[in-house]
Amino acid sequence: AKKQGGNQVIIYNEEINKVNKEKLVIEARLRKAIEQGGIDVYYQPKINARENVITGVEALLRWTDKELGFVSPEVFISVAEETGLIHSLWEFAMNQACSQVREWNTNRLHPLHLAVNFSAKQFLDPASMVQRVKNILSDCQLAPEYFEIEITESTLLYNLEETIEALREMQEYGVTISIDDFGTGYSSLTYLKTLPIDCLKIDRSFIQDITEDYHQSEIAETIINLARSLKLKVIAEGVEEEYQKEFLMKNECDHMQGYLFSKPLCKTDLETYLRQNDLT
Ligand code: C2E
Ligand code: CA
Ligand code: CA
Ligand code: CA
Repeated sequence: AKKQGGNQVIIYNEEINKVNKEKLVIEARLRKAIEQGGIDVYYQPKINARENVITGVEALLRWTDKELGFVSPEVFISVAEETGLIHSLWEFAMNQACSQVREWNTNRLHPLHLAVNFSAKQFLDPASMVQRVKNILSDCQLAPEYFEIEITESTLLYNLEETIEALREMQEYGVTISIDDFGTGYSSLTYLKTLPIDCLKIDRSFIQDITEDYHQSEIAETIINLARSLKLKVIAEGVEEEYQKEFLMKNECDHMQGYLFSKPLCKTDLETYLRQNDLT
């Protein structure tokens, strides 16, 4: 038994070494990609399903490396968070997306909203983060009313008071605050009521639970009702099927995002999408 335990330890260590080595490689390649402009911003439409119009986009990062091939954002974002590269990655995404959306908006009757994902690590120094957001929005001339921050519940685990203060300051500045992946974290209800937030984004897993016969759709329905009673907006992510859209509309969740409408698109494809799907 002792010997077996020993072997397991060795295997375990080898696994860890392998993972760490991969992370080092990803970190090195990622650093290069950021320096050399190898990262792209994609845009996924957010839809008002009732009126059938696009109201905004969520910026999502894409990276295809010459050596590593396509690297999933889940992987490189977590490496970026561990290594501090998240700050320069964020700076790049913000500048790129804000100036792009501001450019699209110059020709639009109904300007698009831009949502950017913020990682919990960015709230380590909340006050300076607020200042940098304000600076970038003003440099890119994107009005705060058209800017939205997506945070997850994990952002609220550290530095709570300062984080709330920072969110409140952003909100007063005009920025919208959304809780991403809502329902998968630990927010208590009393808590939600006191937070400076505007919108709940129902996690994809609960939308996937909505089947054709609406079996197992209770959680999505509950979150919609919760948002309504707290006077928050609500959006569903990961909408893939027509019957999911119908269920959500019946329950008065007007805003949606998902492959049913569009995948995240590169700049030129989003421009084509706007021309073909949009009357404003
Ligand atoms: P997220 O913020 O929850 O983004 C939604 C993810 O769901 C995206 O994956 C999107 O491509 C995918 N998705 C959208 N519609 C559907 C659908 O109908 N079905 C399915 N199966 N998936 C759908 P993606 O682009 O791979 O991003 C994964 C995660 O990486 C994001 O999750 C976000 O947490 C993170 N991420 C991406 N870009 C950034 C960024 O600029 N900053 C930070 N901090 N995180 C980012
Ligand atoms: Ca998001
Ligand atoms: Ca999400
Ligand atoms: Ca997610």
